[in-house]
Amino acid sequence: MRRPFIAGNWKMNLDRASAVALAEELAEQAKRVDGVDLAICPPSVYLDAVAKAIAGSRVALGAQNMYHEGNGAFTGEISAAMLCDLGCKYVILGHSERRHVLGETDEAINKKVHAALDAGLAPIVCVGELLSERESGQTMDVIGRQFEGSLAGISAEQMATIVIAYEPVWAIGTGRVATPQQAEEVHLDLRKVIQQRYNESVAESVRIQYGGSVKPENAADLLGQPDIDGALVGGASLKADAFMGIVAGSKG
Ligand code: PEP
Repeated sequence: MRRPFIAGNWKMNLDRASAVALAEELAEQAKRVDGVDLAICPPSVYLDAVAKAIAGSRVALGAQNMYHEGNGAFTGEISAAMLCDLGCKYVILGHSERRHVLGETDEAINKKVHAALDAGLAPIVCVGELLSERESGQTMDVIGRQFEGSLAGISAEQMATIVIAYEPVWAIGTGRVATPQQAEEVHLDLRKVIQQRYNESVAESVRIQYGGSVKPENAADLLGQPDIDGALVGGASLKADAFMGIVAGSKG
């Protein structure tokens, strides 16, 4: 039985005071929640402050990105060990904004996935198609390619610790959410890809989140699908009540 997992991706939003206030509010509200894993991924400069605000709570800390090298002359980058040092449990890798705005390739993401796992972080690996790719019937080709490229060389044991986030690019930050059927179809296909590459038990254990305009109003329908194991939430994770409304819609 997969435990639902709801993660908030704060992206490049908030300031130090509002990040801490939001984290404290979530930590407080999370006391009333059971049976679901929660994480928040603030901007890296606020990780330390947010870590303190959620210390001892049911909310885990995640980062939005990292670099694959361990240390050295990589100006502006942050290593997996540094994220662990700040108390991170998760790291989002291959988010569509990094792929499409910042030009990150599957190869680069793959190096990061390996480095994250080596350091003991659980990667949340994002995959998703553009609207034009969906409309031309290429959804699973694109996602299969991203999956194979981003997760090259990952063992079955490692795969079981990775979270996949299916995030159709056309649904991110647009208010245009995938229907529960559209999302479930891709999640089920992804699980088949995992089964073919590994085995039934790995496929059944990997959590696959949906991301793209998830809100309290649509969460229960999406999260009620058999192969949707949680959500990666952008905009709605910036308000405690909206985020916890989504959590309430999970299977937990
Ligand atoms: C995201 O950034 O991962 C995301 C899903 O954003 P939003 O919920 O705002 O669509």
